[in-house]
Amino acid sequence: MFKAFLIKYAEIGVKGKNRYMFEDALVKQIRHTLKNCDGEFTVRKTDGRIYVDAVSDFDYEEAVEALRRVFGIAGICPVVYEEDEGFDKLKERVVRYIDEVYPDRHKTFKVAARRARKNYPLNSMEINMELGGVILDAYPEMSVDVHKPDIMLNVEIRDKIYIYSEIIPGSGGMPVGTGGKAMLLLSGGIDSPVAGYMIAKRGVKIDAVYFHAPPYTSERAKQKVIDLAKKVAKYTGPIYLHIINFTDIQLYIYDKCPHDELTIIMRRYMMRIAEHIAKENECLGLITGESIGQVASQTMQSLMATNEVCTLPVYRPLIGFDKMEIVDIAEKIDTYETSILPYEDCCTIFVAKHPVTKPNVKIIKHHEENLEEKIDELVKTALETDEMIIVS
Ligand code: ATP
Ligand code: MG
Repeated sequence: MFKAFLIKYAEIGVKGKNRYMFEDALVKQIRHTLKNCDGEFTVRKTDGRIYVDAVSDFDYEEAVEALRRVFGIAGICPVVYEEDEGFDKLKERVVRYIDEVYPDRHKTFKVAARRARKNYPLNSMEINMELGGVILDAYPEMSVDVHKPDIMLNVEIRDKIYIYSEIIPGSGGMPVGTGGKAMLLLSGGIDSPVAGYMIAKRGVKIDAVYFHAPPYTSERAKQKVIDLAKKVAKYTGPIYLHIINFTDIQLYIYDKCPHDELTIIMRRYMMRIAEHIAKENECLGLITGESIGQVASQTMQSLMATNEVCTLPVYRPLIGFDKMEIVDIAEKIDTYETSILPYEDCCTIFVAKHPVTKPNVKIIKHHEENLEEKIDELVKTALETDEMIIVS
């Protein structure tokens, strides 16, 4: 029966003069998301609120699911609205609303009226009382509970009359694009897709880079990363995914550096290359899925060594999360099943039996000197392999 949604937004409501910018970004994201749903929709901004109207037949469940993925939405309220044709008509409408939405009437309720138009003949209290009485007359099995009602019946008197009672929780966060752009180091693992999701949730647009090492890593491993990017893109909008061939750099480091430091040195080159691509694409930071102590390359000392090559800020939203907590989010955003597919990752192919857990930056730098000028050439060549795919 619902053909429209009232969109409630959280933090973006309190952004002062920037509010319009945030609202416009949210409208844009909502339009973008609904384009992929069956049906035609219009999205409008009226009186500091956003309404979505279905202007054709549409799939209700699909539209709600899509809206639930849009960052910046606190709640999605299926709403009915009509022209104001007087209070008697409103009484009838409210009775019909209960009939249509709540076939089981053994429920408590409360009417919460709001008048945006102060010239309406009744004030909010009077509307609450009158409508409450009408509902009790029509449905004696219902009762009023002003503290914890099963049904909170919102009636808003605005340009039209709006009635809604359900608030479906949204994703929260801020509309993507209001917070600049960052480069996600996206692997095929569980963590990095979650990290990208979390930073995007704060309004940041995401670009991504994946390092692959053919023939040591397969086409299927690469496809897995593209599939993960697709899943993340359901929340973030299109992702520009850069795929870099890392094989020669890895083999060369393997050849020239102590094997217990391989992962750290390799990670330092990944960060350097990611930062280069980030800067070329106006990204304001890097994002990784690291979490303190998860593996040898993520101890405080290792993170310090990896971080040392970066000049851009590195955002690590999972830094204090346990694996189980990360898995919970991965399941919620539907990346987990893809992440656990058993394809090799370039970090796991060249790992040492006993990697350093407390690398010393000075010593690492000293060993990187073995790489001489040739590494710069290899980095340059690797950057030339950049294959950019727009994933949406
Ligand atoms: P993930 O589950 O995200 O793969 P991980 O626990 O396997 O993380 P590492 O392999 O040490 O951890 O990688 C740490 C971070 O480095 C990853 O979260 C990701 O951001 C980045 N990273 C690792 N491998 C790659 C890769 N092949 N391409 C791009 N980024 C990578
Ligand atoms: Mg990994």
